[in-house]
Amino acid sequence: MSGRAASARPRPGGGRSHESRRPAGREGREVGQPPGPRPSPAWPGPALSSPSPARRPGGADLRASAPGPGLGAPYLEVDLVHHLVSDVMVDSDVQGVQVKENIKFTPSLSEQRHKFVLDFVRKHKPQKVADLGCANCKLLWRLKYHESIEVLAGLDIDENILTRNIYRLHTGAGDYLDPRERPLTITLYHGSVVEKDPCLLGFDLITCIELIEHLEAKELAQFPEAIFGFLSPTTVIISTPNSEFNPLFSGKTVFRHPDHKFEWDRTQFQSWALDAARHYGYSVEFTGLGEPPPGAEAVGFCTQIGVFVKNIPNTDESLHSEKTTECTHTKVGTVIYPSLKEEKYLRKAVSNEVFSYILKMKRDLLESLKMKNDSDGCDEPEYVQPECDEFKNDPTEETPKPFCIENVFYVPLERLFSFPKIKHLCGDRETLKMLIADEVTLSSDGSSVMINIVDEEDCDLNDNDGDDYDLDH
Ligand code: SAH
Repeated sequence: MSGRAASARPRPGGGRSHESRRPAGREGREVGQPPGPRPSPAWPGPALSSPSPARRPGGADLRASAPGPGLGAPYLEVDLVHHLVSDVMVDSDVQGVQVKENIKFTPSLSEQRHKFVLDFVRKHKPQKVADLGCANCKLLWRLKYHESIEVLAGLDIDENILTRNIYRLHTGAGDYLDPRERPLTITLYHGSVVEKDPCLLGFDLITCIELIEHLEAKELAQFPEAIFGFLSPTTVIISTPNSEFNPLFSGKTVFRHPDHKFEWDRTQFQSWALDAARHYGYSVEFTGLGEPPPGAEAVGFCTQIGVFVKNIPNTDESLHSEKTTECTHTKVGTVIYPSLKEEKYLRKAVSNEVFSYILKMKRDLLESLKMKNDSDGCDEPEYVQPECDEFKNDPTEETPKPFCIENVFYVPLERLFSFPKIKHLCGDRETLKMLIADEVTLSSDGSSVMINIVDEEDCDLNDNDGDDYDLDH
C-alpha cells in the first residue's frame, strides 16, 4: 500500500457551502457501479504512521480503547489515488478465488446496515438519535418505531432529497388509533455535517451510515472535531465501504458510487477512527457486514463499521459550556407524534380498550342468552364467561362479575381495571374512572359502567318471548 505523505492542495473555495453544493448521489447500488470521477488528487487521509490495528480474517470485532489526549499532530495526508487504482486494477481473482458474478447480499447490504443500527438501538435504548447523511430517511422511518426514542433528527446536505422523502415520517391514522407510549418529535435539517450546530447537541446516538466517503478532503478533516469534539454524543456509528472487498466485484470501477470521494481499506479506516477516538476521548470497536465468499475471507467485510462510545458520559454542563448557540442548519420540517403522555390521547386509548372489552362481554352475554333461549326460554340474563383463549389464565377471575338488571348490563370498574392493558394505561382505579368519565355512563355509585344490553335498533329483551327475538339482527 502506498502511504507516502503529500502536501495539502486546498480546493478552490475550500469545502463548498451546502447551498452551492450539487446534491450528492445516494447509495443507489451496492456493487458494480459505473466508473466514477477520479479521486481528489490530495486529501487528508488516515494517520498511517500510527500503529496498524491487528487484522483478523473477516476483519470483525477489533476492539480498541483510545482514551486520553493525542492526535496533536494533524492527520497525515496520503496519496490515495495510487493505492486505489492499484486496488481495483487487479483481476477479480482474490487469493485464487474467481468471482464471476456480481456479489449480491440478501437482505441487501443497505438493509443489513440499518438492521445493525436498529439492533444497537434495541439493545442500548437511546432517547435522542440523529442520522447524518439521512438521504431518503429510510433509517429514520425504521427508527421511529422504537419506543425508547423521543427525539429523532435527520441531516443531509441535499435539501431536495429531504423534501421529497419527509412524507415517510408523517403521522398516519394508526399513530392516533394506537398512540406511542412516549412522545416522539422528528426534525429534518438541511446542512453540512461539518457545521457545528447546537441543534444536534446532547444526542445519545449519532449514525453516519455510508456518509464519510462522500466528504471532500476539507470536510473529512473537519468531521472528527464537528462530531466527536463539538456534538460529542454518547455513541457514534460510522459505516463506510471496505475497499479491500472491491476486487471481488465484477466490473472494473474505481469506487462503488460516483459520488464517493475515497474508499478506505481496513487499516486506513481503523487508523483514522482510532486517532479520532483517542483525541476526543472515545473507545471504538470495529466490525462489519457483508461476508466475503468462501476462500476470500482475508478481504474482510464489504462494509466496515466503527462503533464509538464516549469514555466519560456527558453532563448538562459539559454539553453546553462554551458551545456556540448559533444555528446554521435549516429546518426542513418537524413531525410531532401523538403519545399517551398527552391526556387527550390517553383518554381515547383507555376508552377504546374499555369499549372493546365491554362489547366483547356483551356479545358473549347475548350469545349465551340466545343459546339459553333456544333451549329453555328466557330468564334474567346472566353473564357466563365464555371458555376461549382470551380468558385462559383469566386476570378478572377474582373480580366482581358483570351483571344485568333488566336491559342494562353493568361492568364493574374493578373488573375492567384487572385487564392488564387497562391497568398499564391507567395505573390506578381512580385514574381509570376519571379518564372514561366523559365517554361512558357510570352507575349511581360510580362502581360500574352501564350499557344497554340491546342497541336501539334491537328489540327489548323483556318483550321477547324467545320465539321472535333474533340476536343476529
Ligand atoms: N445514510 C444513507 C445513505 C447515505 S448516502 C443510508 O443509510 O442509506 C450519503 C448521503 O450523505 C447523501 O444523501 C448525501 O447528500 C449526504 N451528504 C454528503 N455530504 C454531506 C455533508 N457534508 N453533510 C451532510 N450530508 C452529506
